[in-house]
Amino acid sequence: MTSAAKAGGRPRRISILGATGSIGQNTIDLIAREPEAYEVVAVTGARNIAQLAGDAIALRAEIAVTADEAALPDLRAALEGTGIAAAAGQSALTEAASRPADWVMSAIVGAAGLAPGLAALSGGATLALANKESLVTAGPLLMATARAHDAHVLPVDSEHSAVFQALTGEDMGAVERIIITASGGAFRDWPAEALAGATVQDASTHPNWDMGQRITIDSASMFNKSLELIETKEFFGIAPENIEVLVHPESLIHALVGFVDGAMMAHVGAPDMRHAIGYALHWPERRALPVQRLDLGAIGQLNFAPPDPTRYRALVLARQVMETGGHAGAAFNAAKERSLDGFIAGEIGFLQMAEIVEATLEALSGHEDFTSAVDRLDTVAQMDHLARRTAAKLISERIRG
Ligand code: NAD
Ligand code: MG
Repeated sequence: MTSAAKAGGRPRRISILGATGSIGQNTIDLIAREPEAYEVVAVTGARNIAQLAGDAIALRAEIAVTADEAALPDLRAALEGTGIAAAAGQSALTEAASRPADWVMSAIVGAAGLAPGLAALSGGATLALANKESLVTAGPLLMATARAHDAHVLPVDSEHSAVFQALTGEDMGAVERIIITASGGAFRDWPAEALAGATVQDASTHPNWDMGQRITIDSASMFNKSLELIETKEFFGIAPENIEVLVHPESLIHALVGFVDGAMMAHVGAPDMRHAIGYALHWPERRALPVQRLDLGAIGQLNFAPPDPTRYRALVLARQVMETGGHAGAAFNAAKERSLDGFIAGEIGFLQMAEIVEATLEALSGHEDFTSAVDRLDTVAQMDHLARRTAAKLISERIRG
């Protein structure tokens, strides 16, 4: 059965949120190989208008949306005469995501991806979820929205796609533990004393993966893996103590699932996001993908080590957030996003990101919603806003010394 046949013989209607980013471009690479199989509904971006308009035209999308309202005149001009609609702003993003579609790629970076993802699920679309922040900030709400609309969420983060694949045909009751691997990021070979002086440029190069700048820096700080711990708990519904992180410098095994009989199923593949994207695109089928085939004989050996918790404070904080539950995830993610902005802007040093996040969580721990159930978007948005404000205040206090 082809993808087109799955949608009842017609091309599948798909939207790509965050089309101009690293995941968005990899998604476009896959669908552009099979243009007759897809009808593109919406593509969205933020500041890269030339890319957004070019992709909208090449894919013959119905609508292109930029998050940046000031960029709307440029987008309109670039699409003039094409018949493609142009729109801008948060509500336009959510409207575009809610247009009838079979499959929606959620690849906006940050908590900004949550509302459009919920809108896509509310329309019944299958949500291919690269935006891990949606699960970290509002996992229970996202999963409940999917259930209420009989919609699927498919993981696109490589580790979570790996776990999802290893679980095919298995019963969650037979799962003892889930192990997600971490490359160790840009600083895995740096002495711990040197980390305080790490620059934005140092942190922006990943040893194995080619990704957007924010997730690359989050990989160096292990904040990416800490988000992924929470993502694992929320998506697979597994107890925090049964989720482990394993440093694996080669990034070839993406995750392992340990079962009650002692067997472990590992997912092995080249570090190429088109694998996880393609798996979600064709699920429940497995189809040919243009990714590198591994020659393990030539690779020779794979290495593993436990993460050093004294070096990676972010992992310790993620464990606390998982234990707390409620809106702690929204506070954690927002404080992380604001601290990352601060690091990129030169306001704070590399190690201060975790200090700011920890202090923000402490400051908000008495808030009435900190531990309350996550079942509404407005309380999540309030906690997000409060955590950004708190983190910003802590950053400015540090700058003033
Ligand atoms: P990126 O920075 O390359 O692209 C982000 C996209 O979001 C762009 O289209 C950008 O225009 C858009 N965007 C940025 N800010 C926005 C806002 N406020 N509102 C609406 N749109 C906005 O990021 P990426 O590396 O492609 O990552 C996208 C998501 O996928 C992130 O959640 C990331 O954690 C996740 N992810 C990425 C990878 C990877 O290999 N890049 C792997 C796993 C998970
Ligand atoms: Mg990942």
